[in-house]
Amino acid sequence: MNIQRKSFGKTKQGEAVDLFTLSNDKGMTVAITNYGGIIVSVIVPDRTGKTADVVLGFDTLDGYLAGNPYFGCITGRYANRIGGAKFTLGGKTYELAKTHAPNTLHGGFVGFDKKVWRAVEKKAADCIAVEMSYLSKDGEEGYPGNLDCRVTYSLDNSNALKIDYFATTDKETVVNLTNHSYFNLAGEGSGDILKHELTIFADKFTPTDPNSIPTGEIAPVKGTPLDFTSPHVIGERTNEPFEQLVWAKGYDHNWILRRQGNSPDMAAKVYEPTTGRAMEVLTTEPAIQFYAGNFLDGTVKGKGGKVYNHRFGLCLETQHYPDSPNHPNFPTTVLKPGQEYKTTTVYRFSTK
Ligand code: BGC
Repeated sequence: MNIQRKSFGKTKQGEAVDLFTLSNDKGMTVAITNYGGIIVSVIVPDRTGKTADVVLGFDTLDGYLAGNPYFGCITGRYANRIGGAKFTLGGKTYELAKTHAPNTLHGGFVGFDKKVWRAVEKKAADCIAVEMSYLSKDGEEGYPGNLDCRVTYSLDNSNALKIDYFATTDKETVVNLTNHSYFNLAGEGSGDILKHELTIFADKFTPTDPNSIPTGEIAPVKGTPLDFTSPHVIGERTNEPFEQLVWAKGYDHNWILRRQGNSPDMAAKVYEPTTGRAMEVLTTEPAIQFYAGNFLDGTVKGKGGKVYNHRFGLCLETQHYPDSPNHPNFPTTVLKPGQEYKTTTVYRFSTK
């Protein structure tokens, strides 16, 4: 296993950015940049041993700087939506950036996805890793408290890419970090993901209003097109006239995972039948957002100039529930001084 570090260019402000390429002994290679902690590529074999890059993205830093729908990045300080772009904590109301007025999405206008993270390579007996850190200042994008964050990506010889998230604060705040990779197990740019088979280990979801803000209700998936408790091809029910799917223009919802306890547990499985590639998502988080690339519309040209059309990638964002700061009945996202925010998510690749 080895790690290579090379320059990936400079941001518009002149900050130097690197690209870290982690390779294991099983033919899997993962490239990550410290601009936004973005996973730039994940190269894995198919059932015949032929490799392909299974995440959407760009060949160059400039591609990312030009703007894109959160390809591969760390989303924070609060991944997903907060309704009304505000919340109250300790009797004080905090106003956030209205990125999707009146709401906020993915940490604001300049979220963690657009920050340059400090990065160091790490090697252990059974894995190689890159550790990224970033200090989000008190008041950044409206959030209280200096939030000291660390995100570590490690790759081992079981083709598992593990992401450990860690944060501490000096003032009460809210935190919800995730990774926003768009996967296409047939290879990025090769078509849509509608024939991928998906299983989600969840019996419930959080219904939303027409603007994707949770109503606060917890509903069963049983009897709805959101029931992925057994494997279903994604395209099978995506156009059903189920109000939640109509409003979100397809799958873009928060599933409440069955998992319990403190260690990473199975959240979702994806299988692509033509290549035989499979991916398991394990997490310590209580929920997962499955977003089927509903807003990809061919305006973004990715790696090798490939056009990323409607539903060319899917995201499985492990997380706390969207808009938790405004729903006392949801698991808390509050982090207090002296507490440690610690979560782990694993993306494990195989073939069948
Ligand atoms: C959200 C989508 C949003 C996308 C941004 C996802 O996490 O759930 O609604 O459009 O991110 O690209």
